[in-house]
Amino acid sequence: VLELDLPGRSVRFRRADGAGEASEAFDHLLIATGAAPIRPPVPGIDGSGVYAVNTLQGGIDLSQRLDSDKPRRVAIIGGGYIGLEMTEAMLLRGLDVSLVDMLPQVMGTLDPDMAEPVAAALKQAGVELHLEEKLEGFDLSDGKLAAVITDKGRLPVDLAILGLGVRPNTALAKHAGIALGVRESIKVDDRMQTDVEGVWAAGDCVESRHLVSRRPFWVALGSVANKQGRVAGVNIGGGNTVFPGIVGTAVTKFMDTEIARTGLQERELEDLNIDYVTARINSRARSGYYPGASPIAVKLYAERGSGRLVGGQIVGGAGSAKRIDIIATALHAGLTIEDLLNLDLGYAPPYSPVWDPVLIAARQTLKLL
Ligand SMILES: Cc1cc2nc3c(=O)[nH]c(=O)nc-3n(C[C@H](O)[C@H](O)[C@H](O)COP(=O)(O)OP(=O)(O)OC[C@H]3O[C@@H](n4cnc5c(N)ncnc54)[C@H](O)[C@@H]3O)c2cc1C
Repeated sequence: VLELDLPGRSVRFRRADGAGEASEAFDHLLIATGAAPIRPPVPGIDGSGVYAVNTLQGGIDLSQRLDSDKPRRVAIIGGGYIGLEMTEAMLLRGLDVSLVDMLPQVMGTLDPDMAEPVAAALKQAGVELHLEEKLEGFDLSDGKLAAVITDKGRLPVDLAILGLGVRPNTALAKHAGIALGVRESIKVDDRMQTDVEGVWAAGDCVESRHLVSRRPFWVALGSVANKQGRVAGVNIGGGNTVFPGIVGTAVTKFMDTEIARTGLQERELEDLNIDYVTARINSRARSGYYPGASPIAVKLYAERGSGRLVGGQIVGGAGSAKRIDIIATALHAGLTIEDLLNLDLGYAPPYSPVWDPVLIAARQTLKLL
């Protein structure tokens, strides 16, 4: 699609089969243009050997290159969830992996203390961590990647994979004059309609409402995109339903380490001037005496005064990550720490200690209120 003609109620597009341009009229229009990967304009970024995995084709191209060229050393640029997942994939293929990030920690959506066990797991797996190092470019010799250049030095590699995040892909909407919000994502009402009647938007290209901060927020996650798509579809089809908002839940893993977060993290609470208490506990994901009881760390945040739960993070072994859903549900319901503590959660030794680790964290947080 090349252009949206909103007054004329049509879209102009170029045919994929090369048969030129055409227009299509619409009664309703849904914009679901997703997000675009961030590619800093540094020297060599378009060189052979520098890959992105934001599309299926990008993944297929990388996989084929790994099979044909048998590279030995790879640099992952960016320590977010895509970077971690690609690091794991490359290690499993037997490559030497260096991970570069300009932040002092990996997983910037976690508090620094919760990101520490993730960094420890990376180091233990043999990853060379280059934190607080900013990408400056790629050294290409004869068009082939020879090294990644950072502000701290030169890393000789055969391949580099970008995981530097994404931004809303909203050029079409912007050009058509549709109202934009946070980071130029498309503003929608709770029925997923833009500020233009009959023009809807959903997924990575739209702004959401954060139910904890009660502010506009932007996320690019399939979990959210699917729900928004359903709501837009029901409304376009003549029904009436709403998408209330998000609480910022995300899960991932690196090898045996499961990583999860929801709600607001320390940095966000401080930016919003929310006075909080926080507690972090270390426990086991099963009863301690039960075989395979892996470690789990749970950190919770509550608003001082009201006791309202405002965030949580979990890092640990098998059985850790999806416990974040208890905290996410509590955030949706606006529960206090005391409400959370009294939840009737299931217990049997193969699944949790008698006090679930989330409830142990709630108990410790309550003591601080
Ligand atoms: C490697 C990777 C791993 C991920 N893992 C997870 C995960 O574990 N959990 C999770 O929740 N999310 C995950 N995500 C995010 C998830 O994939 C996205 O949030 C989701 O795909 C967004 O859906 P969408 O329909 O909004 O956009 P997309 O799926 O990006 O679809 C947008 C489509 O619009 C098309 N388009 C754009 N502009 C135009 C135009 N002008 N004309 C015509 N077509 C256009 C694009 O080609 C694309 O096909 C991951 C993403 C990546 C890249």
